[in-house]
Amino acid sequence: MGSREVSNQDWQGKRVTVAGLGVSGIPAAKVLHGLGAVVTVVNDGDDERSRTQAAELEAQGITVRLGDGATLPESTELIVTTPGWKPDKPLFTAAAEAGVPVWGDVELAWRLRGLDGREPAPWLAVTGTNGKTTTVRMLASILEAAGLRTAAVGNIGVSLLDAVLGDEKYDVLAVELSSYQLHWAPSLRAHSAAVLNLAPDHLDWHGSMEAYAADKGRIYEGNRIACVYNAQERATEDLVREADVEEGCRAIGFTLATPGPSQLGVVDGILVDRAFVANRQKQAQELAEVTDVNPSAPHNIANALAAAALARAFGVGPAAVRDGLRAFRPDPHRIEHVADIAGVAYIDDSKATNTHAAEASLAAYDPIVWIAGGLAKGAAFGELVTGAAGRLRGVVLIGRDRALIREALARHAPEVPVVDLDRTDTGAMSEAVREATRLARPGDTVLMAPACASMDMFVNYNKRGEAFADAVRALAESD
Ligand code: ADP
Repeated sequence: MGSREVSNQDWQGKRVTVAGLGVSGIPAAKVLHGLGAVVTVVNDGDDERSRTQAAELEAQGITVRLGDGATLPESTELIVTTPGWKPDKPLFTAAAEAGVPVWGDVELAWRLRGLDGREPAPWLAVTGTNGKTTTVRMLASILEAAGLRTAAVGNIGVSLLDAVLGDEKYDVLAVELSSYQLHWAPSLRAHSAAVLNLAPDHLDWHGSMEAYAADKGRIYEGNRIACVYNAQERATEDLVREADVEEGCRAIGFTLATPGPSQLGVVDGILVDRAFVANRQKQAQELAEVTDVNPSAPHNIANALAAAALARAFGVGPAAVRDGLRAFRPDPHRIEHVADIAGVAYIDDSKATNTHAAEASLAAYDPIVWIAGGLAKGAAFGELVTGAAGRLRGVVLIGRDRALIREALARHAPEVPVVDLDRTDTGAMSEAVREATRLARPGDTVLMAPACASMDMFVNYNKRGEAFADAVRALAESD
């Protein structure tokens, strides 16, 4: 880990093209320029915002080409891309033909570790279709409880570049990685890593489920201590089997059932470790109670077990796992309890933007009045509705693609009452909450887990969640 792959020297005069202005492109351009590289930023868009950003970079001596993200600037030696750019873009085809390497933001951060001469902090990395942010934040909370200097980095909290180059000295980093980031991070080697789950998502970007899974699987490449997989999802275990890891690296499963040897799992409401104990054939170590996990919905217990496995792989003791889980507070709009009104619980899971996520939260409550709908992104809803049918008191549908869910309900849960709201203005959520309240009985849960993206009606899922919470609070006041 201590060996340095780059030094300041390597960057002097190096011609680097940064692909894409934006959250990762702008800081990357500035850092590379600061290291002495000759930086050109290329960007597809040429709007007001990019012109302002470009002017700021140009004032520092960085070249920016707006409205031309396709052409490879002459004598480029390296491309550093925004992870979101699709691999089939002409820029990358040109790079491949010219033998120019392409790094994403994660690869850049990985390569710049230790540039300041300090021993770089090891990475505990997490990916998966759902649960990444939650797990990484649980992990950081556990590591902190163990007295380690750490941060949750990636799409959350501290940026990766800041984490590796900033003044803060970390003992270990809890890193969230998306499939896009992993695609562009060929030399990343984590201390230990977890793939939480694998369901079809972003297939338009990756091209196929196989390519998506392969990119997720890259997280295990070169792991030193543990590859953590979901023992209840075969596909994640297959990725471990295919990975090329360091000698002695172990495969560690997590399960909501009783764990086998080399697994973490649940026994009688207790999270137990049968992996990082002296005699895993006979012994199990108690870590925490299910009720220490907040919220203690089944999929969140799975997240907690994955976080615990990574922490244990790093040598963290059982008490810190418990304390870290107890101290953890979930981010907003992830199964967030908004209020109890007249015996009905109102839950905001606006972050359930795909069917896999919604399935998890629908499994956590009974009976449910479900608020669903939005942009379906090509998803099918038959399986989701079939799985939840027995627990649905009623459904309120909102958003552009709600007919897809209505049809699935008609086919798989015809007895469940459905209210179809034919409006997408901002007041629609208030009406949805009123309708849901009308359907609910004391003891029920009104669950807004739309299984769809929000952009047909809201700026993003945060705004959708806020609209729901506002509507619920208004209801509470009028109660
Ligand atoms: P990500 O960072 O992967 O998007 P989050 O932790 O932000 O994950 O959670 C996103 C959504 O996925 C939440 O709405 C939550 O209900 C759901 N979710 C969280 N963990 C899991 C899991 N392990 N399996 C399925 N769904 C999950």
